[in-house]
Amino acid sequence: MFNTSLIEISRSALRQNIEFIRKQIGENVRFCSVVKGNAYGHGIESYVPLAESYGVNYFGVFSSDEALRVFQVKNTDADIVVMGMIEGDELKWAIENEIEFFVFDIERLNDAISFSKEVGKKAKIHIEVETGMNRTGWSWSERVELAEVIKDNIEYIGLYGLCTHFAGAESLSNMPRVKQQIENFEKWKSFFQDENFAFRYIHTACSAAMLRYPEAHGNMVRVGILQYGLWPNGETFVEFRAKNPEVENLPKRLLTWKSTIMQLKHVPANEYIGYGNSYYTPKNTIIGVVPVGYGHGFSRSLSNLGRVLVSGHRVSVIGLVNMNALVINLNDVPDVKKGDEVILIGKQGDMDVSIGSFSDLSHQLNYESITRLDQAIPRQIVE
Ligand SMILES: *Cc1c(COP(=O)(O)O)cnc(C)c1O
Repeated sequence: MFNTSLIEISRSALRQNIEFIRKQIGENVRFCSVVKGNAYGHGIESYVPLAESYGVNYFGVFSSDEALRVFQVKNTDADIVVMGMIEGDELKWAIENEIEFFVFDIERLNDAISFSKEVGKKAKIHIEVETGMNRTGWSWSERVELAEVIKDNIEYIGLYGLCTHFAGAESLSNMPRVKQQIENFEKWKSFFQDENFAFRYIHTACSAAMLRYPEAHGNMVRVGILQYGLWPNGETFVEFRAKNPEVENLPKRLLTWKSTIMQLKHVPANEYIGYGNSYYTPKNTIIGVVPVGYGHGFSRSLSNLGRVLVSGHRVSVIGLVNMNALVINLNDVPDVKKGDEVILIGKQGDMDVSIGSFSDLSHQLNYESITRLDQAIPRQIVE
């Protein structure tokens, strides 16, 4: 294979995670699988058909380029919603192909209406309202104008959703702000009820809000990180565990990242390893060179800090992480050979390198470290 490392995606873990999510939301709430950021690094082309095979039929993306990739790779009539950037010809393409999208300002609403007239199909829109995140969303002061434009053009508009996004549902410290957002969202709901607008979906919840604020489920949730078997943060996990000690089959990591030892050699004591002088051998050292570096998503801040697994042993990254290579200390691994497997993220024997530890050591969010995995690394589905 033409690659220096491989990412494996576990089918059985995904099945378990989807079951977990379905249990949390019940039967009457739709699960929208968020696959922005190249399916959080898992690879849209690998992940989407796999999720479809477990009945997932709704995918949320950030932008039109991601929507196109999902559209081209999906095997079913799954729906797609663009939650962020889409403009111009892409907006027209979306309407032609019945792809849904968030609308958070008058420019996009007007464009959607004009393209709908041109294409001869309704624009399937989700009205995203501002409730306190202060990112995208209609302001409360715009509600009357918004309602009028919709009413005047209802033959061009499909009201697919009314939605908002919480500003950090994963942290207890944000609870007052999120509760205020829930309240503000209720006001928006009443406003539209009074206007007799019927939205197909009312949705606000990401992974953390799904777990923490069941009152905010509406009839759809937009779940990203948890379906990949990762928790939004440590706090969300601890709280869930404390409140639900009996729950088995918790979300399980899908992803394993592996490579091999490209070169093995002995370096005498009192030598520097690699660029510069950040690592000095205290004794004779067997080093292994692994063909993975920051260019592939192995953060440079893991220099002299990262841990990887070789033959069931946890070994250290020594020296600086390079663009395409890193060096590990193999002194404690018996019978180590060139070509031996190196686990960068995942399990080997009884040992595990979690995305959490990988992220913590490199001062990244787990979200961040997985979305930085190079898109060119092959993704392979395993049991
Ligand atoms: C990313 C995102 C989500 C999913 O968030 P997770 O924390 O990964 O579950 C939901 N909604 C919007 C608008 C998002 O941008």
